[in-house]
Amino acid sequence: MAESMPNMLDSRNWLVPPTEHCRRMLPATRRQGMHISKEHQQWVNFSSNDYLGLTTDTRMCQAANDANSQFGVGSGASRLISGDSPQLHTLEKKLAIWKGYEAALVVGSGMLANIGLIQTLANRHTHTFADRLNHASLVDGTRLALAKNHRYPHRDIKTLEGLLQRHTAERRIIVSDGVFSMDGDIADVCAMIALAEAYDTLLIIDDAHGTGTFGADGRGVIQQHHLQGHARLIEVGTFGKAFGGYGAFILGTEELIEGLRQSMRTLIYSTAIPPAATATALQALEIIRQGDRVQALHKNIQRFRARTETLPMLASETAIQPLMTYDDQATLSAANALRAQGFFVAAIRPPTVPTGQSRLRITLSSDHTLEQIKQLCVALHQLVP
Ligand SMILES: *Cc1c(COP(=O)(O)O)cnc(C)c1O
Repeated sequence: MAESMPNMLDSRNWLVPPTEHCRRMLPATRRQGMHISKEHQQWVNFSSNDYLGLTTDTRMCQAANDANSQFGVGSGASRLISGDSPQLHTLEKKLAIWKGYEAALVVGSGMLANIGLIQTLANRHTHTFADRLNHASLVDGTRLALAKNHRYPHRDIKTLEGLLQRHTAERRIIVSDGVFSMDGDIADVCAMIALAEAYDTLLIIDDAHGTGTFGADGRGVIQQHHLQGHARLIEVGTFGKAFGGYGAFILGTEELIEGLRQSMRTLIYSTAIPPAATATALQALEIIRQGDRVQALHKNIQRFRARTETLPMLASETAIQPLMTYDDQATLSAANALRAQGFFVAAIRPPTVPTGQSRLRITLSSDHTLEQIKQLCVALHQLVP
């Protein structure tokens, strides 16, 4: 019967037709520490955002199990209906203190945080100023708000200032990643806060990748530069990366956070995160504050960088270490060759990055062993002689 049905999707082109850039999912059957496996194959994972190895940490699993048995597996409703919990408020207080802001708001995910935040702050008269390499969620937020968006070349503060001089409006927002996800480099947050002051704008910094990883204590890019709590600054962080779980949070003034609680659509019209997600976020915060995981990550970053100095690496001091392979096909071959040797490394190609900018995106974790890093580096040197 299925064969006789007309194929509506294909015939009408509802979806983008598959191209040679077709992305594939890898349904891993098992994850354990830094290993992922599928059927009988196993790889050391050098392409996850599990920077501190917390996704499989026993303390994290225990916290989730305890929350599941105590509170059930779901929150049952939006936070504004009946899905709120004292644990969520405890988590928000602790996050605000840890990051150095007046208040915090926990939401479903980084995608929901950014879309909801910008949609709430901006409207069709607002001008946004965005780094060209910003995360998709920041781009989509400005689109949903119907704001007038101006993109500037990656980390190009001069061009940003020129745009601010040219485009005046009552409400303006500068929007940027903290640590950039594809390049592993860092926004010039000091220069940006200075521009926000000089041109009377807000500044949103999404430090999804820096949270839990960057700076001596892992608090992130903003804290490394002592800018936390600045009245013009709104920071976003997530639980899906170094925190090893799921969910996200927004940091700012008491007034801003209260305003978002009242009107942010992705908060109001979306189910609160499950109790186990709240519990694992609280547990992750405890572990991160102990500091040893963050230090182990930094040590692994140093170990990796020391062994790849002569390779065409992008300059990055973060856990994201891109090795430029430029050519699309060469990148795919390199990733496959690494896979055959037991390393899982992401091949990043267009449209994720511009044509000719393909790369292997290696991400490091505190849980990689010295031996795993050494072996990967040997393999990389063989690929790029
Ligand atoms: C991963 C990421 C997000 C999305 O967060 P999720 O919780 O996975 O939805 C948002 N912004 C940046 C910069 C990210 O890297």
